Amino acid sequence: MYLRSVNSLEMSSLGKSLPDPLSNVEVKYTKIFINNEWHDSVSGKKFATFNPATGEKICDIEEGDKEDVEKAVKAARAAFEFGSPWRRMDASERGKLLNKLADLIERDIIALSTMETIDAGKPFFTSYMFDIPGAVKSLRYCAGWADKNQGRTVPTDGDYFTFTRHEPVGVCGQIIPWNFPIVMFAWKIAPALCCGNTVVIKPAEQTPLTALYMGSLIKEAGFPPGVVNIVPGYGPTAGAAISNHMDVDKVAFTGSTEVGKLIKQAAGKSNLKRVTLELGGKSPLIIFADADINAAVECAHHALFYHQGQCCIAASRLFVEESIYDDFVKKSVELAKKRVLGDPLKPGTQQGPQIDKEQYDRILDLIESGKKEGAKLECGGGPWGDKGFFIQPTVFSDVKDNMRIAKEEIFGPVQQIMKFKTLDEVIKRANNTTYGLAAGLFTKDVDKAIVVSSALQAGSVWINCYSALSPQAPFGGFKMSGNGREMGEYGIHEYTEVKTVTLKISQKNS
Ligand code: ADP
Repeated sequence: MYLRSVNSLEMSSLGKSLPDPLSNVEVKYTKIFINNEWHDSVSGKKFATFNPATGEKICDIEEGDKEDVEKAVKAARAAFEFGSPWRRMDASERGKLLNKLADLIERDIIALSTMETIDAGKPFFTSYMFDIPGAVKSLRYCAGWADKNQGRTVPTDGDYFTFTRHEPVGVCGQIIPWNFPIVMFAWKIAPALCCGNTVVIKPAEQTPLTALYMGSLIKEAGFPPGVVNIVPGYGPTAGAAISNHMDVDKVAFTGSTEVGKLIKQAAGKSNLKRVTLELGGKSPLIIFADADINAAVECAHHALFYHQGQCCIAASRLFVEESIYDDFVKKSVELAKKRVLGDPLKPGTQQGPQIDKEQYDRILDLIESGKKEGAKLECGGGPWGDKGFFIQPTVFSDVKDNMRIAKEEIFGPVQQIMKFKTLDEVIKRANNTTYGLAAGLFTKDVDKAIVVSSALQAGSVWINCYSALSPQAPFGGFKMSGNGREMGEYGIHEYTEVKTVTLKISQKNS
């Protein structure tokens, strides 16, 4: 559960019972992590990581590129060799190591939360209450799977004994985004490691800090050298080197649909490595007139504005039934206007900055398109403050399906509220998108809830709630929102090769 109780927790945590963030974060880990050692980049290049709340540089990071990926893949391959310490390790021991890593994260939660806040612009309370604990839960969930990923015996025809083994896939390349840096890091490494794979992971160039800190904890936990290798760098260089690599057996990617297509092409052009993708979304949330309107307004608010709207599951197409539309809009605007923006390290801040100038400009451009295309701007609609990349919480009503703000993933604090009349109409409109990551609906009518949840084309459907993610439940997209699932048992299988072993039985029954 990362976001399920976001409403009440967010409210109850405003200014209360939170530890203070570290006043001075010393960034110790800025290099490339290979074989449990810290390396300079082969090219000698570095890149800067910035605090999006101020626009100021935090520090320089060694910039991984093709040659560094090459070194990391060699290390991961050696660690995966048959007979290596990692391959010979008991499955239950792998589970212990993952639990040990989770313990170390809990020990260092304040440092990690502070780092996540200054690097990604997340309000400290979300880093502390959701992101870091979410990473811990994922590691512990997968730790439990380490010695339970078992095969079967198979009743084959003839005098044979056949069984299946669930084996690791091999060297897994993992490429993650900037919006949930440590959660995505855990979602990638935990299932890979519990199944016995080795990893080369590239954090997003905007947010490398917590991933590199995790390198130090991975070493401290006692993972053998080469099992996890962390290569910070840019997408078209380090990322592409991973997805094109002939000796990487699988690539797992979370990011934009555009780059997801490049990853699949690279896999096809190189060694047909296995690919799992978790991509963008333009998720519908449908509010029927019989819903508890106050609960629906509040949930819809958090489903969109959480983390500045920078969530792949953001409920960015809100369909509200005609008879409650005006009331719903009024209440949504009141809530958006109350949102507290500011320094994400300060208690009470609900909304921090967007991640960088590029995203900030893109969101402002989409807001302008909404105004031009005739949506009604109810509140917000521009930048906020005099430094950093803040945007006012923005609500549009009278939004039509063909407007850019109703079609494109905005990844910002911009809520679109549309009106609908009938159930059939809203199902068609909700599904009229190339995406299919998530969806939600609010109604008190159980029949309606079941019918609509069956009709919606999305990997996750939430009824009378939203964003109720949990490590036990699979997550992933229909259509162009991705391939495969992460977490849950389905997510574990994505890191498993099934081997069928058949033994000839020579002694016949007389
Ligand atoms: P966003 O648009 O939200 O930044 P991206 O899809 O561009 O999302 O980035 C997600 C991750 O993919 C980041 O780690 C980024 O460096 C990486 N990436 C970007 N371009 C490529 C590419 N051509 N090949 C592999 N990885 C890439």
